[in-house]
Amino acid sequence: MKAHDGMYIGGMWRPAVGADTIAVVNPADEQVIAHVPAGTAEDVDAAVRAARAAFPGWAATPPAERAAKIAALRDELAERKEQIARTVTAELGAPQQLAETVHAGLPIMVAASYAELAASYSFEEKVGNSTVLLEPVGVVGAITPWNYPLHQIVAKVAPALAAGCTLVLKPAEDTPLTAQLFAEAVHEAGLPAGVFNLVTGLGPIAGQALAEHPGVDLVSFTGSTAVGRQIGATAGAAVKRVALELGGKSANVILPSADLARAVNVGIANVMSNSGQTCSAWTRMLVHKDQYDEAVDLAAAAVAKYPPGERVGPLVSAKQQQRVLGYIEKGIAEGARVVAGGSEAPRETGYYVSPTVFADVTPGMTIAQEEIFGPVVSILRYEDEDDALRIANGTVYGLAGAVWGEQEDAVAFARRMDTGQVDINGGRFNPRAPFGGYKQSGVGRELGSHGLGEYLQTKSLQF
Ligand code: NAD
Repeated sequence: MKAHDGMYIGGMWRPAVGADTIAVVNPADEQVIAHVPAGTAEDVDAAVRAARAAFPGWAATPPAERAAKIAALRDELAERKEQIARTVTAELGAPQQLAETVHAGLPIMVAASYAELAASYSFEEKVGNSTVLLEPVGVVGAITPWNYPLHQIVAKVAPALAAGCTLVLKPAEDTPLTAQLFAEAVHEAGLPAGVFNLVTGLGPIAGQALAEHPGVDLVSFTGSTAVGRQIGATAGAAVKRVALELGGKSANVILPSADLARAVNVGIANVMSNSGQTCSAWTRMLVHKDQYDEAVDLAAAAVAKYPPGERVGPLVSAKQQQRVLGYIEKGIAEGARVVAGGSEAPRETGYYVSPTVFADVTPGMTIAQEEIFGPVVSILRYEDEDDALRIANGTVYGLAGAVWGEQEDAVAFARRMDTGQVDINGGRFNPRAPFGGYKQSGVGRELGSHGLGEYLQTKSLQF
């Protein structure tokens, strides 16, 4: 596949300082499809300088003009929709339909939402005898993962641009080609040089250099809780703003009044989407003891509709495949019962894992506590609603969740959940609703006006 052999800094593609490269592998056939430069601290420094130089001009650009540039960026993404989908399929392994509708389609919607918000948002408010100004935080260091490679970039870049911030992006090493395509779109959209900069590279080298750089005012990170904790500590030591979108272990709570078959089927579809590599996936299905056996049968039947290679792609890398297979083995070793799938790789080539359902999972088991990040669902039994709530809230995470049942009961239950977003009876994803975690799932929110707020700081003038 086509790849740039440089970094996008100050409005142009520039050669990397070092000669090291990162091989990009297609997880479906294990072939190397491209190489991108592995950035160093010097590349990061050049990018941060470019972003700093561009900041005063972009911050002073009227919001309506910033909105027009974001709208132009949305159009450039829409024009490249097919190319983006093909690239995401090649480097992440996403099935074609998912690549088109979600991986390429959702970022267009998010960019559109910020084009509108930038134009309509009130960057000034009155509080008694004060006028409060909402000003851009400054230079943003954005570090993103591979699982929704373009969405996670746009969920940071679009609000940062709307706020008047400038950025340096360090995308995941597994999916840098999508990030390069995004930089091309930024360029064609006519954003001023230096407003957006891209440095590809390894997390502990380029990512860390970006998080530590004194010229970065806000680090916005999406990824694992382990790395997020490190980034939070680095930012805290420098008294820098930080936003962390981390892992999850979300509960799908099926109350006795629910449409059981629908709740189970949608629950399985939710986890199988993107091969289970979704931070907000409902990987723990909680079912009342009287409906448990029926739910297990329904889940086993539902998962049979997701054969690897068709509706479920491979995992992103050999490392991820091994990690997920390790969790499946751990589940078996701790006494959970496999009712579908298992730890045998379903194909000789490609990093596939069989869609797997575990029954007889108890809340303390590793597979009920840790994020697996693969097509694996655990079904847990609860006694009554209080028990269900204890189980639902009984992990270190709190990113998402679902509740099924009579609407009033479901909402009452959702109010008691320690989690950032809950879908009631299959409620649709809303790209303008705040997205982010309670507890160790993160700090801060993305999307919509709450996401924009992360990139603003306040100044009050008293009269
Ligand atoms: P990861 O934490 O290993 O990597 C994420 C990014 O951080 C990559 O760009 C990586 O290069 C970089 N990085 C790694 N080490 C670094 C360091 N020491 N300093 C600075 N940057 C570093 O995570 P991953 O394996 O790429 O992604 C999977 C994880 O992301 C899962 O835990 C998932 O739940 C989480 N995630 C969360 C959300 C959310 O919105 N809450 C969304 C998607 C993914």
